[in-house]
Amino acid sequence: MKTIGLLGGMSWESTVGYYRAINEGVKKALGDLHSAKIAMVSVDFDPIAKLQHKGDWDETGRLLAEAAQSIEAAGADFLLICANTMHKVAPQIEAAIDIPILHIADATADVLIQRGIKTVGLLGTAFTMEQDFYRGRLQDKHGIHVIIPNAEDRQIVHNVIYQELILGNQNDASRAEYLRIIDELAAQGAEAVILGCTEIGMLVRQSDTDVMLLDTTAIHAAKAVEAALQ
Ligand code: GLU
Repeated sequence: MKTIGLLGGMSWESTVGYYRAINEGVKKALGDLHSAKIAMVSVDFDPIAKLQHKGDWDETGRLLAEAAQSIEAAGADFLLICANTMHKVAPQIEAAIDIPILHIADATADVLIQRGIKTVGLLGTAFTMEQDFYRGRLQDKHGIHVIIPNAEDRQIVHNVIYQELILGNQNDASRAEYLRIIDELAAQGAEAVILGCTEIGMLVRQSDTDVMLLDTTAIHAAKAVEAALQ
């Protein structure tokens, strides 16, 4: 079994989900008392969130590249950046290490392609929804058409992430807003909606809606298990 590198803490609330899902996946595949081999560094998210909102991505990249080097030194065979947003600096992290990064957008695209989905809605931080590092990769590399909410709804989705979900708070009014926005994406032609932020799965579940949801935490964790056991 390969050792999975986890760059976590973004936020720790969602890293808990990765840790659990990966270990459950290995247990299911191998049985007995098996569990995953993991090398993890969990960063302090507050300075990173401040740098994101200041637009100082270079410094976030430097901090994460340093963390990734420690993970590689601890014996990881490949790396997961346990967040969608911070894939913005994946190229900078990739350049600092010799192990491959298992990209969250590629893992998600694999599931979309398997299910024959050509048009998808995307929820995530404003950075993920509006910038090119995630949407662009789905569109250009994988040929998937991506729809995002309107500006006002993007702000709602973003604020709920940073003001509630990252702090471990899930509230009913925010869930209702997310479900309304998911319905609107479906009405615009989305065949499924990507929960493109690793905390959203804690707020909205598949049982809450008839629209197909793709939880990036679950998808990324499953991909890591598959790669570790290959
Ligand atoms: N975990 C989130 C994501 O998947 C948001 C936190 C962050 O900005 O890294 O994008």
